[in-house]
Amino acid sequence: MSRKIKIKKRIRPKKEQEQIKKVAILISCFLILIILAITSTSILSPKITLTLNNKKIGKTITLNYKEKYIEPDYKAIYQNKDITDKVVVTGTVNTKKMGEYKIYYKMKEGLFAHTYILKVIVKDKSSPAIKLRGNSITDVCPNTEYKEEGFSAYDNVDKDITKKVKVKRVKNKIIYSVRDSSGNYKEVIRTLVYQDKKSPTISLKGSEYETVYLDDTYHDSGVDINDNCTKKDKLVIKTIGEVDTKRAGRYEMCYIAEDEAGNKEEIKRVINVVEHGQNGTIYLTFDDGPKNGTTNVILDILKEEGVKATFFITNNGPDELVKREYEEGHTVGLHTASHDYATVYSSKESYYNDLYSVRDRVKRITGQDAKIIRFPGGSSNTISRRYSEGIMSLLTKDVITKGFFYYDWNLASGDAGELHTSDAIYENVTRNLSKDRVNIVLMHDIKPYTRDALKNIIHYGKENGYIFDKITEKTEMMTQRVNN
Ligand SMILES: [Zn+2]
Repeated sequence: MSRKIKIKKRIRPKKEQEQIKKVAILISCFLILIILAITSTSILSPKITLTLNNKKIGKTITLNYKEKYIEPDYKAIYQNKDITDKVVVTGTVNTKKMGEYKIYYKMKEGLFAHTYILKVIVKDKSSPAIKLRGNSITDVCPNTEYKEEGFSAYDNVDKDITKKVKVKRVKNKIIYSVRDSSGNYKEVIRTLVYQDKKSPTISLKGSEYETVYLDDTYHDSGVDINDNCTKKDKLVIKTIGEVDTKRAGRYEMCYIAEDEAGNKEEIKRVINVVEHGQNGTIYLTFDDGPKNGTTNVILDILKEEGVKATFFITNNGPDELVKREYEEGHTVGLHTASHDYATVYSSKESYYNDLYSVRDRVKRITGQDAKIIRFPGGSSNTISRRYSEGIMSLLTKDVITKGFFYYDWNLASGDAGELHTSDAIYENVTRNLSKDRVNIVLMHDIKPYTRDALKNIIHYGKENGYIFDKITEKTEMMTQRVNN
């Protein structure tokens, strides 16, 4: 006998089955709708492409603050049809104000409208700038603290942000850093090098060329020194050279200054030991002054150059200048008060009247009896013949008996008439100087071109080994041949 085993199947009630079916249909319908919606919008909506400089751009662009906003090119397509000219663009960008902007590209074609949004972000992308005063690599004196030379920071948006700068010292570096309000960072480094590479400065006190008379005592005027790192009392000065005033000649003194780092600088001085009136001496003589505007400048130059000269004065010009001539160590000689040939050379009495008048002036101003004289026009003048025959023969002898010394010249600068420029005066004087004699140079301190030539004449003389001196009673008289 066979035995059937019956498996009893559970059967859902019919009602339940139908409900499930309904839900399933609903779900699938819903899904289909969604898919349809999605595909239809993507297929049926117009498509827009944005390009900037021929490059496709996305939905967002970022611009720097104040950077120019260039509108992108665009192209819209709807079902293979170009509808670019149907796109309506709205929205603006102001790059002078940071923030987010939106540009709308609106399109409508057929049933479907579509809006594409481009987001434009304007922000500060630039780092601030830090400016250092002084150099980024700076020499600092060894064993000293670096003194901050200063710095400043500037940002395109925040403007001056110097106060925000952080200064940090790391070994021999100073790091200056700053961040602007947008977070942009900048860092600048100053490197300190502890070394002294600068030589001291050295300058002569007194003149570059000095003159000492034989058997006089030589006083060294010394030098002025300074250094960027080493203090004055720690600077070493060596003086090389000696002046023997027992022997005439040219001597050189060399001064060497050395700082603590071993940097050296030197300077030289020339000292001439001379006899009074030795060959190669230049006696600069100035007639017809004093005069404001020329004599005062000539005195300044002589002072600066350490040169003494001789002035044969008249009664013209301010007393003050005569006083200066005397007080600054020059010889104040007599030329005559009026310098008027007709008066001066009309008679012996008339000459002395004029001479004593200027002598009294000198006495009044300086307290001295002047004994050094020069005849107007020189002792060889012929103009005096017009007023008094033979007067020069008489006067040249007579003044000696009265204790005067008269000096003519052997080098006329030319400034009395024929030459009218400082260059011409300079040329003429320097060309005619000689080392084989003394040179008594006739000049006029009332002439501007003489004033302007003087410095160069003195430099020429110094550089070529001449000696400058003033006429004194000890100076041998220089006389020309008398012609009247
Ligand atoms: Zn004169």
